[in-house]
Amino acid sequence: TKWVYSFGDGKAEGASDMRNLLGGKGANLAEMANLGLPVPPGFTITTEVCTHYYKNGESYPDGLTDAVNAALAEVGRITGRGFGDGKAPLLVSVRSGARASMPGMMDTVLNLGLNDETVRALATDAQDERFAWDSYRRFITMYSSVVLGVEHHLFEEALEDYKERKDYHLDTELSAQDWQALIETFKRIVDKERGAPFPQDPQEQLWGAIGAVFGSWMTPRAIKYRELNAIPAEWGTAVNVQAMVFGNMGETSATGVAFTRNPSTGEKALYGEFLINAQGEDVVAGIRTPQDITEAARAASNSDKPSMEKAMPEAFAELVRIYGVLETHYRDMQDLEFTVEKGKLWMLQTRNGKRTARAALRIACDLVDEGVIAEEEAVTRVEPQALDQLLHPMIDPAAERDIIATGLPASPGAASGAIVFSSDAAEAAKKAGRKVILVRVETSPEDIHGMHAAEGILTTRGGMTSHAAVVARGMGKPCVSGAGSIRVDYKAATMTVMGRVFKEGEVITLDGGNGQVLAGEIAMLQPELSGDFGKLMGWADNLRRLKVRANAETERDAQMARNFGAEGIGLCRTEHMFFDAERIIAMREMILSDDEHGRRAALAKLLPMQRDDFTRLFAIMSGLPVTIRLLDPPLHEFLPHGDAEINDVARSLDVSPEKIRRRAAELHEVNPMLGFRGVRLAVAYPEIAEMQARAIFEAAIAAGKETGAKVSPEVMIPLVMSQPELDTVKARIEAVAEAVMGESGERIDYQIGTMIELPRAALRAGEIAASAEFFSFGTNDLTQTTLGISRDDAASFLGTYVQQGLLEHDPFVTIDQDGVGELVALAAERGRATRPDIKLGICGEHGGDPASIAFCEKQRLDYVSCSPYRVPIARLAAAQAAL
Ligand code: PEP
Ligand code: MG
Repeated sequence: TKWVYSFGDGKAEGASDMRNLLGGKGANLAEMANLGLPVPPGFTITTEVCTHYYKNGESYPDGLTDAVNAALAEVGRITGRGFGDGKAPLLVSVRSGARASMPGMMDTVLNLGLNDETVRALATDAQDERFAWDSYRRFITMYSSVVLGVEHHLFEEALEDYKERKDYHLDTELSAQDWQALIETFKRIVDKERGAPFPQDPQEQLWGAIGAVFGSWMTPRAIKYRELNAIPAEWGTAVNVQAMVFGNMGETSATGVAFTRNPSTGEKALYGEFLINAQGEDVVAGIRTPQDITEAARAASNSDKPSMEKAMPEAFAELVRIYGVLETHYRDMQDLEFTVEKGKLWMLQTRNGKRTARAALRIACDLVDEGVIAEEEAVTRVEPQALDQLLHPMIDPAAERDIIATGLPASPGAASGAIVFSSDAAEAAKKAGRKVILVRVETSPEDIHGMHAAEGILTTRGGMTSHAAVVARGMGKPCVSGAGSIRVDYKAATMTVMGRVFKEGEVITLDGGNGQVLAGEIAMLQPELSGDFGKLMGWADNLRRLKVRANAETERDAQMARNFGAEGIGLCRTEHMFFDAERIIAMREMILSDDEHGRRAALAKLLPMQRDDFTRLFAIMSGLPVTIRLLDPPLHEFLPHGDAEINDVARSLDVSPEKIRRRAAELHEVNPMLGFRGVRLAVAYPEIAEMQARAIFEAAIAAGKETGAKVSPEVMIPLVMSQPELDTVKARIEAVAEAVMGESGERIDYQIGTMIELPRAALRAGEIAASAEFFSFGTNDLTQTTLGISRDDAASFLGTYVQQGLLEHDPFVTIDQDGVGELVALAAERGRATRPDIKLGICGEHGGDPASIAFCEKQRLDYVSCSPYRVPIARLAAAQAAL
C-alpha cells in the first residue's frame, strides 16, 4: 500500500479526484501542483493510515516511517534544505485534512523543525534575527498547546507579564532579544507542565504533530461534529506536511484569503483580505485589520490602507492569473489561501467556496452564461433549502444595524413596523393602514388574527417549534422567538432591553434569518422571483418529473402558491375554513344539534360560504387540479373553552351554557388523534360530507360559469382504513354529484380518492384502489400511526433519540424511509396493481423536504404537495432528484 503522496515542483502523485484518500486539502494541493501553480512542496499521509492507526491499537503501518522520510527528503531536494539541518533548515507546516472540512479537529502547526540550533540558521538565512526568534516562539506556543496539551493561556500570561515589566504595549515592540528571553520562560513552562523539556529533535516534533492530527479525529468535539453531520468515523483524516513559506518576512511578504467571486452577492470580482508582514494565524486572530485585495474594493470600503493591487502589483497580477486558472479548472467559485514571501506568491489552499443562496444562484447562472457549466449542472449548484432565504424580503446587507437583541431565527424574512403588544391592536392598526410588529411574551391560537395583521412577530419566550414560530412559518412571515433579554410590560405598553425602553408605536425591524431585533426602519431588498431565480427554476422545471402542488386553503395562500409555480392544490384542509368568526357559529350550532335535522339546518348556513371559498380557489387554480379534503379533525376542536367563551357562545346560539358543557364532555376523547375524526365523521354524520360535496360541485360549475375557469376537483377522504368504509362515503358523494349535475344540466369532471394515513390502509391498498382514483400519502399521520409517536407530544423525547443516534433525524421532518417509506412503497405497488393509472401524491410536511422528495421520486409518485413557501424548494429538489 502507498501511504504517502508527494506534491510540488509542478507535479504531484495525487489529484483532486482522490479526495477520499488524500482529504479535501491534500487532493486540492496535489491538483494545484499538477496545474503547475506555485505550491510549496510537501506530502500527504493518507486517510488509510488514520484508519489503520485506529484499527491497530493506535499504531502506524509498516513502511510509513520510510515513506515519510523519503518524501521529506524530496521536499528538501526541491527547496535545497534539510530537515534539522543546522545551516539550511527545512521548516514545515502540519495540517489535518479530512474528506469533508471538519471543525473540532487539530488545525495547524506552523514552523515545525525549529529548535535552539535551527532558529539561528533561520536568522542568518533570512537576515532577520527578530523574525527568526518570533517564529520560534510562535512554534513553541502552537506546538505545546496543540500537540503537548499545555494550556495556551500560560504562554499568553507570560507574554503579558513580560510586556508589563518592560512597559511595552504592542507585540511589535518586542525585539529579538526580548523574544529570546521569553522563549526561555516558555520552555520552562513546558518543562513544568509536561515533566519533560520541549522536544528539540525535529523528527520527534514531526511525529508528535502527526500523532496529534490522528488523535484529534477521536476527540469528543470531532465525534460530535461527525454525528451531527453524518460523517462516518471510518473515513479518517489525512495529514498534510508542507514546506513553510513566510508571509512575515518584512514588507514584501504577506498572507491572505480570497474568493474568486463575492461569496455574499455572487458578483464576479476577486474578493478578500490580506495582511502585510504576517502569518496566517494573524488574519484569523483579527488583531490587525486586514487590507482589501483589489483597488476597487479598497475604494468602496474607503480604507486608507493600500490594496494588494497597489502595494504588491506583481503578486497581485499573479493571484489574478491563478484565480482564472483555478476557476476554469474547477468550474466553480474558489476560496483561496495564499502567502507572499519576499514578493513571490505561493498557493496554500483552494476549495469550492461557501456562499449565500443569493450568491449561489447568481454564480450558477453566470457560469452557464460564461459557457463553463451546463444548465443541468447549474441546477445542482444551489441547495434547495437555501432558496428559503430568497423568497422573503431581506435586510439590505449594506444597511447599518442597531441591534437591540437577538433571539431565535424562527421564521425567515425581514420586516419593519411599529410595536404593538396585542393582537387586537395589531388588527386595528392594519385596518388603519399601518404596518406593525406584534410583540408578545408568547402567542397562542387566540393571536392568529394579530399575527395575520402584523408584518412580523417577536416573542420573548419559546423555541423554534413554539406556536409563534410554527404559525409564522406557515404564514410566511418573519418571526424572532425567545428573545429572552427583552422584558415586555403589557400594562405600561413598553419593552425594555439593556436599559433601552421602546414604547408602543416605536418602529423596530426583525431579521428572521438570524434572529436579530433592530431599532428603527431599515432598507430592505425585495425577493427577486424573476431574473436568476426565474432562470434557474425554469431549468429545474425542464428536468423534473414530479409535479409540485401546494397545501393551501385561503385565497392568499393559493395565489402565492400559484405565483411560486405550484401546479395545483394537493391538499385543501377544509377545517381551516371554519374557524372564521362568522362560520364558527354555524359550525358550533351544527355540533350542538341534537339530531340530523338540526345539523342539516346549520350545515345549510355553511353551504354558501364553503361554495364561495371553493369557487375562488378554483378560479385561482384554473386549469390545475384542486384536491379538497373532507372535514378531518375531531369536532370538539370547534367548541369553546373556558367559562367566558362558553357563556358568550351560549348567548349567541341561544342555548344554555350547561348544554355546551355537556356536549363538550360527550365529545371529549382520551386520544383524539385516534378518535372520532377523518372518514369516521362522514360515516357517522353523512350530512357533513354531503354539504361539502355539494359545495365543491356547485362551486366547480359556478367557477366555470363566472370566470371561465377550467376546473378539476378531486374529493379526498381522510383517515380511511378499508375499502367498504371508503365506499360508504363515496356513494354519498357520487349521489350529490349526480344531483348537482342534474339540477344544473352541466357535467363536471371529478375524481374521488383517499388519503393513506394508516398502516392498514397501506396494507389494503390493493382493494382500496378499486374504489379510489388517487392516493395522497398523509405522511404526518402515517408517521404518527406507524411509529406510534404522537405528532403533538413527540418533542419531549425526540431530541434525545436523535442525539443518541436512535433516530437519524426527526421522522416528522424527513420521511423514515425504512419504515414509513416501506409502507408507501408497498401501497404504491398494491394500488398500481389494481389500478395501473392511479394518481399518487404526498401531502404531509415531507412533501417540502428535499430528502423526502428524493424518496418520492424513487417511488415514482406523481406529485408532492407542500406549503406555498416550499413550492420553489420542492421544484428544485424534484429536479435534483430526477438527475
Ligand atoms: C397528514 O396527515 O400527513 C396530512 C397531510 O393531514 P393533516 O396534517 O392535516 O393531518
Ligand atoms: Mg392527516
